[in-house]
Amino acid sequence: MRTTVLCFSGLDPSGGAGLQADIEAIGQSGAHAAIACTALTIQNSQQVFGFQATSKELLLAQAHAVVDDLPIKCIKSGMLGTTENIAALAEFLREHPDYLYVLDPVLVANSGGLLGNQATLVKAFAELIPLATVLTPNTVELRALTGIDDLEQATQQLFAMGAQAVLVKGGHEDTPAYIRNALYINGELVSETRCPRLEGEYHGSGCSLASFMAGRLAQGDNLKQAVHHAETWLFGVLKQAEIPVPNGQRIPKRF
Ligand code: PLP
Repeated sequence: MRTTVLCFSGLDPSGGAGLQADIEAIGQSGAHAAIACTALTIQNSQQVFGFQATSKELLLAQAHAVVDDLPIKCIKSGMLGTTENIAALAEFLREHPDYLYVLDPVLVANSGGLLGNQATLVKAFAELIPLATVLTPNTVELRALTGIDDLEQATQQLFAMGAQAVLVKGGHEDTPAYIRNALYINGELVSETRCPRLEGEYHGSGCSLASFMAGRLAQGDNLKQAVHHAETWLFGVLKQAEIPVPNGQRIPKRF
């Protein structure tokens, strides 16, 4: 049985982001994906219309059902939807301190739609931050989580909040020619990459990157290797992404 990543993530009916992105990315990384579904969203590649979150009891029941059944090495979280679900995941992680954990602090869909109450989610994330092997915020999430505009200071604030490692993703920064991602471990910058900025907007790029990293970590990569493999893979699947309708965001072609 392939080593398994258990994802706490939401359903995106467009198939671009959320748990489908997780399943496809983790499959491509060579690992097996299991899902504890946090929410059913109503959205397409252009807009979020709403969502219904799973209760914390249902969420934990899904996770507990597979714990002794699958060779889980790593947890990955994306959209959690409610503070109750964040607290439930924290409880689950404390029961399993041996699991690696990739925390993608999702607050907003790439189309701009909210995936929860931002102010309360931000506060609740504080409990998860010290439990994570690595956090993968984009710069919008980094600023929201810390309330600090300067990116270096904001990153150091995450370490002050107990983070062990942080991959800062620069896709939302005003760098028209390139995207800079920076990996910090224990407050130190250990690697940075600049890749050419592809044209257009993408739906599910963050989920895909974090999940591929989780899959590689589960299979024994160290953090630097996992980030490198995930970035290389993501660039390829974004290059061949498909536009569903002229106004829609591109959907990564992960196969
Ligand atoms: N999780 C769900 C369920 C989503 O619907 C979205 C975005 O629509 C995300 C996560 C985050 O997506 P992205 O990878 O584009 O940041």
